[in-house]
Formats: sequence, structure tokens, C-alpha cells
Amino acid sequence: MVQPSQRERLRALPQIEELLHEPRIEELLARLARPIVVDAVRQAVDAARQTILADEPRAVDADVIVSEACLRALRLERPSLRRVVNASGVIVHTNLGRSVLAESAVEAVTEAARSYSTLEYDTDAMARGSRHAHCEQLICLLTGAEAAIAVNNNAAAVMMVLSEFASGREAIVSRGELVEIGGSFRIPDIMMLSRAAMVEVGTTNKTHPADYERALTPQTAMLLKVHPSNYRLIGFTESVGVGELRALADEENARRTQSGVSDEEVLVYEDQGSGALVRLDCFGEYAEPTVAESLRAGCDLVSFSGDKLLGGPQAGIIVGAKRHIDRLKRNPLARALRLDKMTIAALEATLQIYLDEERALAEIPTLAMLSTPAEALLPRAKALRAAIEERVPQECARIAVVPEIARSGGGALPMCDIDTFAVRVEFLRGNALDCERALIREREVPVIGRIKKEALLFDVRTLVEDAEAAEIADALAAYFAQVAPPSGEAPLARTRPEDAGTSPSDPA
Ligand SMILES: *Cc1c(COP(=O)(O)O)cnc(C)c1O
Repeated sequence: MVQPSQRERLRALPQIEELLHEPRIEELLARLARPIVVDAVRQAVDAARQTILADEPRAVDADVIVSEACLRALRLERPSLRRVVNASGVIVHTNLGRSVLAESAVEAVTEAARSYSTLEYDTDAMARGSRHAHCEQLICLLTGAEAAIAVNNNAAAVMMVLSEFASGREAIVSRGELVEIGGSFRIPDIMMLSRAAMVEVGTTNKTHPADYERALTPQTAMLLKVHPSNYRLIGFTESVGVGELRALADEENARRTQSGVSDEEVLVYEDQGSGALVRLDCFGEYAEPTVAESLRAGCDLVSFSGDKLLGGPQAGIIVGAKRHIDRLKRNPLARALRLDKMTIAALEATLQIYLDEERALAEIPTLAMLSTPAEALLPRAKALRAAIEERVPQECARIAVVPEIARSGGGALPMCDIDTFAVRVEFLRGNALDCERALIREREVPVIGRIKKEALLFDVRTLVEDAEAAEIADALAAYFAQVAPPSGEAPLARTRPEDAGTSPSDPA
């Protein structure tokens, strides 16, 4: 119900036409197209209307509405996709774009964007070529696969494999592997979408080879294994390895050949998620199996992301026997989910670095961030502390370099604590929650740290260049200038929940 007092306030709202003659709006009109400005003004009036209807006590006069309209119009001119400083210590941070590309990959992207290219042109044949050809040989070389195809992302890869090989038939999957990754990717949903009938076997914590064996029917198209990515079952658990799935599939395929009930073979397919190309020995028992290992263990097909542990652009790579990959290449989804030229350029350049494993660990930022020993980060942490101390008055905060734990993110190595160093800011003026908000919301280049016990931490492991230290220091200086004016007033007392960070989370 609209109250009489609200009706009064609504009626007092200025008309759009009137507002368009306000000097600040006229200035906007001189710079931006009229429909854009009109739209911003209309949205600002709508926002004012909502404020009144929600009975918020804020003033909503013409001045407030004009300011709001200016903000909305100016926001259109600022890119929405912006650089951020990732000092969160989460390396493959899905909210922050996962992997930073290697320099040579960045150059390849720029060149592909600037010029015409051989995207679908075969210069040897002087005829039309295939965009699938650019990375295939490299992927095969690095994984030991016979053939490969890369599509938009790994979710697309899973979708395509299930549609091509299991549509209208059955795919057997362990109940311990029915995972959700990053909110919108859930194995049961992808199954439904691809029209594959999901046959769940085992229990949440334990699945045995016999569970798969009992579920095998002439309708079975594949044994699906899904990397649990962002969680681990620990304790009383058991899962079935690729080798055992291979043996089951071989037996079933032999039965089918003998009896002639079905001429389609049962495939073993692993959705590997992170998809490591090199074994990260620094993680010991936590090291993820490589794609080559899964293939050698007996997978017919393996799929994985391009921008997780691989450290390249967003992509989904499928490897396996040529006869399977050829079917995928002919699937109409391959056309719908294909890579664009800039991604192909970045992927090819990234894969080329892997030809020399040592170079890969040094030049691919994701791998370098994962494998750099903590001691090597100490000078960077000290430099960041010095930069902050130089800009932030002593009475505002206590600054220290502290040992901390970084995370791989991207659904890889979830149990693995990666030793790192961070700069800890303890607040003598203001507080961590407000500061975090200011660093994220009020900066041209947002700075993402991490709250711990009412202090803000800036992990140097995920910084991509030295200049970011100055950006963090500038951002902190700007925050403290707001909370601690030179007059030296006492800081505002605030209540704040412990460890309640509001920074982006990394679900995948
Ligand atoms: C991350 C992940 C996916 C989704 O990959 P995208 O490249 O993000 O589409 C699928 N399966 C598993 C097991 C994953 O870890």
C-alpha cells in the first residue's frame, strides 16, 4: 500500500524534462548521445521512487537525482571489465579471471587481434584449413594423445562428450563424484542437458569396481570419472581408479563383440577439471595427476580447462583416440562451442612454452606462482611493507610481514597449504572491513586483499608486477586519509564480525 505521505513525496519528484535542463545534465548531453543521458536520468528517478517506496529517510531532491544520473552515465564510459590487484593469495581465482597469460601469449593475442590470420587457411595447401589444426599437434605432443580438440571451456567439453557418446544411452558415475563446480556447473544437470541417462553407483564416500560392474548394461555408453576439484573426501573412503574402469570397460566390450548385442563400445572418460600438463612435484602427495597419466592409465577421453593449472586462456581441451575426436569434430556442438582466434593464439603460445618444462615453470604466471618457494617471495613482501610504511602514517596502522598460506584455487590442490608471505595491516584508525570496501569499491584499480582477525592481509604470491606494491600503498593511503584527517580526531568505534570478508570468493 502506498501511504499518503509517500504519495506526497512521489508527486514532488522532478519531471525528466525538467532534469534534462539542469546544468550538470546539459554538460553530459554535450558529450554523450541523448538517449543514453535520458536513460540515466530515468534510472535515477526510478531509484528515487524506490527509495521513497521503501520508506528510506534519505533525501531525494533534484540535486540528488542529478548526481545519481551523472554517476550512472559516467559509469558507462568506464570499462566494466577492469584490471585488479590480486593480493588474495588465491592463484587461479575464478572471480578474478583465473590465469594471467604468459607474455608470449599476450603478444600472440595482440597480433591475432590486429591482423588477418591463418585462422582457417592452410598455407601449404593454399586452401581452406581448419581452426582445430592450430593447437592439436602441440596438445598431442604434451599429453601423448593421438588426437585433440579445444572448445570454449571445460564445461562445454563435458557437454560435447556426453552428447556425442552418451545421448539417449547411459553414463555410469560414482555418487562420490556428482560434483558442483562454481555454482552453475553440476554433473547431473549437464547429463540432463546432453540427454545422457545418469546411472549413479556407490555411495557418497565409497564406490567399488563391483558397483560399476553391476550397473553395466547393453545401454551403457561410458564410465564417467569426475575430478572432485574443489573438495576432498577424507576418512573412510574409496573410489575406483581409471585403471580399474579400463578393465571393466574392456571386459564389457569383449562381451559385446562376442554376443553382438551392441556394436557401440563402452568408453572410459575422465573430466579432469584442472588438467595439469606437468607434475608439480613441489606439492608431493597433493600433486594433481597429469593428463598424460590419465591417458596412460586407460582413459579413452580426458577433458580439462585451459585456464586452471594449465595457465592459458579460457578453453576446454579434449584428448583421446583419433576415432573419438573425429566424431567430436563433426558434432554440430563443435561449431557452436568453437574457440575464437584470440583464444587459439593464446593457447598455442602457452602450449609452446610447455615444450621446455623449465621454461613453463618460469614463464607461465600460474605455474610460477604455484611453484615459487616462499623464501623467494620475502624480498617482495618487504618491499610492499616499505611502500606501505612510506604512505601510511604510523599512528594509523601497524604494518608487518607475516608468514601465511596461499591457495591454488581453480578446483586444484584444495587441501594443499602453499607457504607464502603477506603484509599484514592492523588498524589503529578505521577498520579492516571498511578498508576492504574502500579498496574494492572506490579504486579505479580495485585491490583485493584478505581479512583475517580484524587485519587486512596482502599476499605477495599473487602479485603480477612490482608496481602493484605502489598501487596497494596508494589505495591504503587514500583510505587512511578519509578516516584519519590531519586534525587527529579519534577513530570511529565500530563493531565488526571476525574474519567476515566480503571479497570475491573462489568456488571453482
Ligand atoms: C573447473 C571444472 C569444470 C568446468 O571447467 P570450465 O573450464 O570452468 O568450464 C568441469 N569439471 C571439473 C571437474 C572442473 O574442475
